Amino acid sequence: MKIRSLKLYEVPLPLKEEYSLSGGKLSVTELTSSIVTLETDCGRIGVGEACPWGSTYLPAYSMGIRAGIQELAKSLIDCNPIHIDHINAVMDTSLPGHNYVKSAIDMACWDLLGKVCDLPLYALLGGRFQEKVRLQSSIPCGTPEQMMNAVRTARGQGYQVHSCKVGSGYDEDVARIERIIADAQKDELFTFDVNRSWLPCEAISVMNHICEGNIYFEQPCQSADQCLQVRRATSAPIILDECIQDFQDLFKARAGFAAEAVGIKLARVGGITKARRMRDFCVMAGIAMNIEDTGGTIVSDTAVVHLATATPRDFTRATWNCCQHHSVKTATGGMRFDNGWATLDKSPGEESPGLGLSLDFECLGPAVVSVEQPV
Ligand code: MG
Repeated sequence: MKIRSLKLYEVPLPLKEEYSLSGGKLSVTELTSSIVTLETDCGRIGVGEACPWGSTYLPAYSMGIRAGIQELAKSLIDCNPIHIDHINAVMDTSLPGHNYVKSAIDMACWDLLGKVCDLPLYALLGGRFQEKVRLQSSIPCGTPEQMMNAVRTARGQGYQVHSCKVGSGYDEDVARIERIIADAQKDELFTFDVNRSWLPCEAISVMNHICEGNIYFEQPCQSADQCLQVRRATSAPIILDECIQDFQDLFKARAGFAAEAVGIKLARVGGITKARRMRDFCVMAGIAMNIEDTGGTIVSDTAVVHLATATPRDFTRATWNCCQHHSVKTATGGMRFDNGWATLDKSPGEESPGLGLSLDFECLGPAVVSVEQPV
């Protein structure tokens, strides 16, 4: 089997509401998603997606995907797409780094492997550990009252885990956190996600002031070293997210006991293949995970639900679905939202292979990159 053609579609995703993070320093109103199709010489089509959260969240942006895929395409035509470790080696040799560019291609290869094997993706990633995957809400930064009301709305939609964005400094962040926690319900879990915005001194002050059970703080500072400094001076559980870009980052974090949990986002770490390796390491090392992507539509939301479904329940803290933030539907099938949880579409024995999705090409519009095998 060989890759015969590669196509890239770009889809604007206007957000339902402006989204503010890092204490209001960063905000996003529209994302651009990149959807890749790989067609094989036997007529099968695999689908993948990558969508940076704007251009300020990570060293990633949508036009970078277009340029990177144009650069990679010539090396991928004629490769066997279900030899996925080999595909990743080809991509890493042809274009070192640029994880987010590779994630959509890697996802499309997994979709193809599922179609060839006639198995749903989760079965290829370890098998079913969970019937449904817990989702977390994502609460943008705002005033204490705005954020508490947003948590209440999410609670009404069934979410029991809430990721609340903070990061503007001791006084404002303590006010936000205390307002939200005062309104918390039994069995709810809270993450206060700083998105790299605190200095270590601010992080230590806020985290030691709050000191409540079962509250996690995510990516308090810019660098892994700064976060480790905070870890050593506080006792609240820490999730590392943006600073875990590859396996070495994860290994170093474990060696320094820097975090109790990590966020594994497909596009940040280079796709399902590398996320699965990190997932397996986390299970062996006793590290909990949020398994997510950096953004996207039902395609990437479904991919993360497959990976989370195939991960032991005790290790999966929560998963985020970007579809909660926009109304663009690029495909039918895939994951379904079920009162704060995500389920895969069909019952065992009736499942669609691979991701289990059918693309809506009308929504995608014309391809912006199309590379074919020379005849
Ligand atoms: Mg985060």
